[in-house]
This record gives sequence, C-alpha cells and structure tokens, in this order.
Amino acid sequence: MNDRQHILAIANQKGGVGKTTTTATLGGLLSAQGYRCLMIDLDPHGSLSAYFGIDPETVEHSVYDLFQQLAQGQPPDAGVAIQASAFERLDVLPASTALATLEKQFGGRNGMGLVVRRALQAIEPPYDYVLIDCPPMLGMLMINALAACGQLVIPVQTEYLAIKGLQRMLRTLKMIEQSLRASLRFHILPTLYDQRTRASRECLQQLQAAHGEHLTDTVIPVDTKFRDASHAGKPASLMFPATHGVKAYGRFLHEAALGRIEEGNSMQAVAS
Ligand code: ADP
Ligand code: MG
Repeated sequence: MNDRQHILAIANQKGGVGKTTTTATLGGLLSAQGYRCLMIDLDPHGSLSAYFGIDPETVEHSVYDLFQQLAQGQPPDAGVAIQASAFERLDVLPASTALATLEKQFGGRNGMGLVVRRALQAIEPPYDYVLIDCPPMLGMLMINALAACGQLVIPVQTEYLAIKGLQRMLRTLKMIEQSLRASLRFHILPTLYDQRTRASRECLQQLQAAHGEHLTDTVIPVDTKFRDASHAGKPASLMFPATHGVKAYGRFLHEAALGRIEEGNSMQAVAS
C-alpha cells in the first residue's frame, strides 16, 4: 500500500491555474529522480491524458472503469487502465470523457467517494508517488481525490481575484474534510508569477497575509517553456530541465513532497 503522504492531489476549482502543468512537471521530476510515479487524470476534459498522448474521447480503459467496477459489486482494479507513458517510471491512469456523466450514472450510490482510494490500496507493488490531477469542479471526482491523497497542492494563479477562488477551494476542502472526518495537509502554490506586474506582486502579498502558514516558499514563475513542453507532449522537467520554471518546481518538491511537509500543516488551521 502507498504511503499516503506520497499521494498528492493537485486541485483548485478555478481552471487555468496550472494544475495539469504541475502534475506533469512533478511527475517528470520524480520519475527522473528514480521514483516510480503514477499520474491520475480525474478531469473529464482529459487534459493530462491528452498531454501524454491518450485521447480521452476514444480511450478504451480509464478511471471511469473503476466506478463501473464498484457499481457492479467488484473491487476497483486500476490494472488494465494504467498505461505506461513514453517516459521511464512514469505511468498514466487516464480520464475518459465519460467521466462527465459520473454523477448521473452513479451519484447517490454508497462508497463512490472512496473508489480511487481503494484502487490505489490494491496496486501491487505500490508506486513511490501518485499525483492526482483534479477537475475544476466540486463533485464525486474531487471527493475521490481528496479522500485518496495524503497531501493537497492548491496551485493559485497570482492575479487579481485569485484569493476569491482560493477561498472557495478552501471551503470545499473543509466541507469534504468534515464528511470524511479527516484533516488534510495542504500547500498553496503560487503559479504564473510575473514579478514585473503589479497584479502578481500584490496577489502574492495578499496570499502571504491571509494564508502565510500554508503558502509554499517556492513561487512558480511564468515560463513559456511549459506551453512548449505541453505541445510536445513531454514533461517540461524532462525537456527543459534547466529552465527557471522547472527549477522552481524542483524546489517545491523538496519543500513539500520530499521534505518539510510533516509539520502541522493541517486543515484544522483554516477557520473559514
Ligand atoms: P489547469 O490544469 O489548472 O487548467 P494548466 O496546467 O492546463 O491549468 O495551465 C493552463 C495554461 O497555462 C496551459 O496552456 C499551460 O501550458 C500554461 N501554464 C501553466 N503554468 C504556466 C507557467 N508557470 N508559465 C507559463 N505558462 C503556464
Ligand atoms: Mg487541467
């Protein structure tokens, strides 16, 4: 079974904040460091799957299978759905567009919030790290991600109104935590930071003032190499290992996933 601390969900209800980029880049970094890593795409849009060359419209087996299996009374088994990526030690559990119908199909059934968690518990041998790319909305998939992970990374684009989106995400978290009766470590990761713009600088100050305790020391800068890497279908960390954006993700990894996280960084600290 996986060490829960090594299962990271990357979530924010806002789109375009860097969730998929964070997942792909961290996956690239971890696998390059010798860790076996699984990336799970829980977004019905399937951006992460497409990033790694899997078409979410036509994919035969996906994370959707797991929900179907449970609905049919079988234990969720990710085996057939997991695909090797073109990169060593880096696997993908893809999304399919059918995930968009999940609530309608299976909403209200028991145990549907714990499908991903159960599937991960059953994988042998377990991966060293699991990264879960979340959809930008609250629902069964987000609940599955938060129930499965040991840590949550919330990428926040450093721009005006980012704080509002973040507060929404934190409220969602609190709600899910209450229903799961668990508390979750989380990190607020500022992304798309451009120090030349006032919006970026002010947003970072606001984040510091309001959420300093959960704010990562690392800030991810705007770096056009991320877009280039995504077009090429390769993790930026493998394609441009020395670019400043990738180096920033490397620092974040040390700060969070590989290192320091243990200190009482828990949801309990969020008052509202
Ligand atoms: P999300 O998954 O939250 O919707 P993405 O990771 O898909 O966000 O990022 C949205 C867009 O921004 C993509 O085109 C991506 O290549 C680009 N992007 C993400 N992070 C950065 C960054 N640090 N610098 C420049 N572009 C970025
Ligand atoms: Mg995405």
